[in-house]
Amino acid sequence: MAHTHHTNFEELLEKHHLKKTAPRLKVLSMLHSKKVATSQPDLETVMVDIDRVTLYRILNTFEEKGIIHKVFDLNGTANYAVCSSNCEENHHHDEHLHFNCTVCKNVYCFDDLHLPPIKLPAGFKPEGFTLYANGLCPKCGKVKEKEIN
Ligand SMILES: [Zn+2]
Ligand SMILES: [Zn+2]
Ligand SMILES: [Zn+2]
Repeated sequence: MAHTHHTNFEELLEKHHLKKTAPRLKVLSMLHSKKVATSQPDLETVMVDIDRVTLYRILNTFEEKGIIHKVFDLNGTANYAVCSSNCEENHHHDEHLHFNCTVCKNVYCFDDLHLPPIKLPAGFKPEGFTLYANGLCPKCGKVKEKEIN
């Protein structure tokens, strides 16, 4: 699975003027293969060959370049999800719904569920919007159903 989009990832790094290093490609394909946003501690456990500082720098660079965006789970931990292609360097457009599961604490990124335009009171200059919904993801909802029956 991870290798399917390999060429695209190289192009993506090239487009953002980033050197195509093995750790960067690895992080990118890992984040892409996941259905949910992923935290740095989670990445650390699967990518034991990349040290923490390198991983931290990769995530920071990707976020700055508009490749990934940060969302928070219910524990307050930062999770990262791949951006849609309309994000730019230092300018994200991730105005879509995120879903926090109260049981497994996974953060789901719904790229297709865009936020309606929101007009703020005069004087407020928003740099971005993040909307969260809380509740049960399909997997945890099924478990709950079984417990009741
Ligand atoms: Zn973005
Ligand atoms: Zn869940
Ligand atoms: Zn998102």
